[in-house]
Amino acid sequence: MSLIRHSFIITGQVQGVGFRPFVYRIALDNQVTGSVNNSSEGVIIEVQGSIERVSQFGEDLAEKLPPLAKIITFEMEDMETVEDEDEFIILKSTGGQGHSVLISADVATCPDCMADIKDENNRRYRYPFTNCTNCGPRYTITRSIPYDRPQTSMACFKLCPDCQTEYEDPLDRRFHAQPNACPRCGPKIWLSDNAGVMIAQGDESLHRLACELAEGKIAAVKGLGGYHLVCDATSDSAVAELRKRKHRPDKPLAIMVPDMTTAQSLADIQPTEEEWLTGLQRPIVLTSKGADYALSEQVAPDTNFIGMMLPYTPLHHVLLSDFAEAAEGRTPALVMTSGNMSSEPISLGNREAFGRLANIADIFLYHNRDILIRTDDSVIRLNPMTGDPILMRRARGFAPSPVFLAESGPTVLGTGPELKCTLTLTKGDQAFPSQHIGNLTNLETLEFYKEIHTHLEDILQVQPEMIVHDLHPDYMTSEWADTLGKERNIPVETLQHHYAHIYAVLADNQFTEPVIGLALDGTGLGEDGTIWGGECLMVMPEDLEHQRLAHFTHIRLPGGETAVREPWRIAQAALWEIGITSPGDYRWPWLDDFAQESKFLPQLLEKNINSPKTSSCGRLFDAVAALCGLANTISYEGQAAILLEKAQDMLETEAYPCPLKSADPVALDTHTLIRCVITDLDAGVGVPTIARRFHLGLIAGLTEMAYSFSMLLDIHHVALSGGVMQNLTLATELPLSLQGAGLMPIVHKHVPPNDACISLGQAAWGQKKLLLEQS
Ligand SMILES: [Zn+2]
Ligand SMILES: [Zn+2]
Repeated sequence: MSLIRHSFIITGQVQGVGFRPFVYRIALDNQVTGSVNNSSEGVIIEVQGSIERVSQFGEDLAEKLPPLAKIITFEMEDMETVEDEDEFIILKSTGGQGHSVLISADVATCPDCMADIKDENNRRYRYPFTNCTNCGPRYTITRSIPYDRPQTSMACFKLCPDCQTEYEDPLDRRFHAQPNACPRCGPKIWLSDNAGVMIAQGDESLHRLACELAEGKIAAVKGLGGYHLVCDATSDSAVAELRKRKHRPDKPLAIMVPDMTTAQSLADIQPTEEEWLTGLQRPIVLTSKGADYALSEQVAPDTNFIGMMLPYTPLHHVLLSDFAEAAEGRTPALVMTSGNMSSEPISLGNREAFGRLANIADIFLYHNRDILIRTDDSVIRLNPMTGDPILMRRARGFAPSPVFLAESGPTVLGTGPELKCTLTLTKGDQAFPSQHIGNLTNLETLEFYKEIHTHLEDILQVQPEMIVHDLHPDYMTSEWADTLGKERNIPVETLQHHYAHIYAVLADNQFTEPVIGLALDGTGLGEDGTIWGGECLMVMPEDLEHQRLAHFTHIRLPGGETAVREPWRIAQAALWEIGITSPGDYRWPWLDDFAQESKFLPQLLEKNINSPKTSSCGRLFDAVAALCGLANTISYEGQAAILLEKAQDMLETEAYPCPLKSADPVALDTHTLIRCVITDLDAGVGVPTIARRFHLGLIAGLTEMAYSFSMLLDIHHVALSGGVMQNLTLATELPLSLQGAGLMPIVHKHVPPNDACISLGQAAWGQKKLLLEQS
């Protein structure tokens, strides 16, 4: 029989995902001989056998990949055959394994492990840390590369003989599963009260915890990427108490339910939503509350949507199933919100969590597997028109997966903005946005930010050749970028916030042609020193030229930051801007609560005292929501816009006019929208009608503006980014409207449209800048 020999070199996410045992299995199935080896170039396979067998092996290799493996490059070559080879072997890893191997994100429990924990006769029955090469923790437990047990927080747990046997058997699905563990040798759980006294340990802890939750207690539960604060989502008193203790009065809380049946009883779930809810990444999915929604009104009072997730670790599966039993007769749903005070990063260590959460939680569920990199739950919603995900928070299950860039280049660090911050490092043709870090307004979060930076450089084995930060010099991320640049003696550049948004959505789509960019955002410092946020920009990513074409007409923020928390101020300032200084037939909704302040507001505006002007799109939503009486004040970012979106009467079809105004640069006359809103309010038109006419008017105005510049510049792609693009009405209807005008919209795919994308835009811009300088 004539033999052939092939070699395969494979790169991508091929380590710690059961890749080598998979190769071993298909080699046995096809009766080929040879070897498989992890090297710094990737996984190297050599196979020898008959032509049929070797080619069948090649097909199986491409088609039967283990669930977590992702192949990025695949090279095959013919080789000289070897004599006297009679088996297929897994070689010991060689070298650093650094360059072409990616660490996987954390992955939800697989069906096989689910079967193990449900089987009373299995040695892992109800064991909270059950995992295999197809599932379990990765990123959150990995200190450094290569991804091997000594480099993870499993290093301190010595495998028992049974686990060791599984670990060494290439035909076992736990072969080289670095976090492999069992009740005998692995991490343990226990339950404490809020005085630190242990009240249960081992399996009993979860059962006891479920009972306490069913009785209305608030718990801090250590999970995969940090702590959750947990309570019964059907209990008004428990949810109200959690909100009070956490200082989070209104912001929607996410819930976890045991299964799809429960999920479907609460929300109208679309097939794509079900795929995400039950998939490997298990984000929180924003779904529409159903007719039989039966949770406490306190869970998500401002919106028609409920953020839901299904269990993603065995600990959560067992807890939810115990809770379903303990809360018999009620919908088994637990509020699961990040274990932190509002604005601080999610808690990590046992002692730290106890110190920070003792005033919030009644009981604590701990375990002794360290979380090395804290990672929040990710949040997505689905575009009902396209079924595509819109990321709202990108963290667990996504980080540290890369975004692929249009070309390869030097390593650049983008340090992000101030709010909803992430940082991004590039490596070759890949960009690695960090997980959601949070608002860099306190030192705790800055520490977390620095940890992630070090960790990311470590696991990617790169050092940036340039740092790019926001134009705002006072952001912590800008100051830190300057310090790091000096320390390392590398260039530090700045990129304006809204250009960064557009560069981000272009990088996200590997799009390199000129575009008209619409940055519909909260606020960011502009090149002219004013606050930008409703911007029409031209961006030419190939030569990094960009220009501000137009912006929303200005409104003022009387009181500065105070106006952001008190949208009624923006509303009154917007009226003042169009010449309305006292109420007409419609009584301004803020006159009861803010009579005094309202009286003095015109003086602030006239004398221009602490009343910066802004072209922000987000602040326009705030003004309209406040005018409509939906939000005099807000307690979380985006609240006014969420309420305005919810208020819409979707049957209304009239759009307010929103014309272009010639000025330098051109302005989108959003003052006309304000005038229409107040005219309708004075005429007694209902808020649902007004809310809808406003959304439709803005969409029509934006389309008109993009179309005009498209004709003028002969550019037909429109890139959409900015926090306002999380608004489902804009996210679904604006792209359709642009298409209707013959334009081609480009939207985010892998990173959120909000400020979490800024660091990607900065890094991609910086990489291109270095490439241009070098060419
Ligand atoms: Zn598994
Ligand atoms: Zn064991």
